[in-house]
Amino acid sequence: MHALTHAVVEPLVPAVALRAAPRLLRTVADCRAFAAEHHAAGRTVALVPTMGYLHDGHLSLVARAREEADVVVMSIYVNPTQFAAGEDLDTYPRDEAGDLAKATAAGCAAVFLPTTDVIYPRGHSATQVAVPALQQTLCAVDRPTHFPGVALVVTKLFNITGCDVAVFGEKDFQQLAVIRRVTEDLNLPVRVVGAPLVREPDGLAMSSRNVYLGAEQRREALALSQGLFAAEGAWLAGERDADRLKRMVELRLQQAHGGIIDYCAAVDPDDLVPVTGEVDRLLLAVAVRLGKTRLIDNVRLG
Ligand code: AMP
Repeated sequence: MHALTHAVVEPLVPAVALRAAPRLLRTVADCRAFAAEHHAAGRTVALVPTMGYLHDGHLSLVARAREEADVVVMSIYVNPTQFAAGEDLDTYPRDEAGDLAKATAAGCAAVFLPTTDVIYPRGHSATQVAVPALQQTLCAVDRPTHFPGVALVVTKLFNITGCDVAVFGEKDFQQLAVIRRVTEDLNLPVRVVGAPLVREPDGLAMSSRNVYLGAEQRREALALSQGLFAAEGAWLAGERDADRLKRMVELRLQQAHGGIIDYCAAVDPDDLVPVTGEVDRLLLAVAVRLGKTRLIDNVRLG
């Protein structure tokens, strides 16, 4: 009886029907005009940069961005300069229609959908943006060109969209650290906000790349979050030794079959330098390859 009443009342007004379709921005001039209009009216603009194939992790960033600014622009662009040769640039999952429906439901005022001609009109950028101090550890060891590509495109997206605020997920912790440092060092007029990592109900960190996983790999992938949760449990019970906490994660990863551990690290959350012995805060971060799919996850303690 109760369930029936609930079912009749709930779906009458789907949230999506309340939202206007976002404005589609294709060019730098479109973005500049959008920001100028809102700034002239005294409204602040938040940017949520993504590569599309949206999931609830991305949408949580939009929700956070709406709290931080008056209007939200989402960019959807699979940036070639952050992929090395042999990585998944060509097969990266795409779903423009699905993404636009999700961006609409989430309340984006605009979606920036540039082509590579718009972002790199000369075919490449002669100018580089890099933070060497943060780019020799964790993911940068196996992907040395990744963060310079990210730093370059995000700097361009900040300048193109004229955003006042930009929201990034703590899922990509090293990316967030790099962007914070670029923004500070180059005096970019953007407030960078980090938002919590969003997980599937069974603990797997949401990622557009999860779609690559076969059923067996999807099960094996749980070792990442399970290892991190085990360490988090120990931390909450009073364990403060970084090496023992890291070892707990490693042990769980080693028990899983088939995965190759790219790294399992205990680092300082700000400068990403490895920590050892007694600590009062740390970031445990892992990267594991399951077949061709590389998964990352982390947990911040303290
Ligand atoms: P991507 O589309 O993978 O480039 O990610 C775009 C933004 O979404 C980045 O700021 C990511 O950190 C963030 N993001 C991706 N997955 C998650 C997640 N599971 N939880 C929170 N943020 C995420």
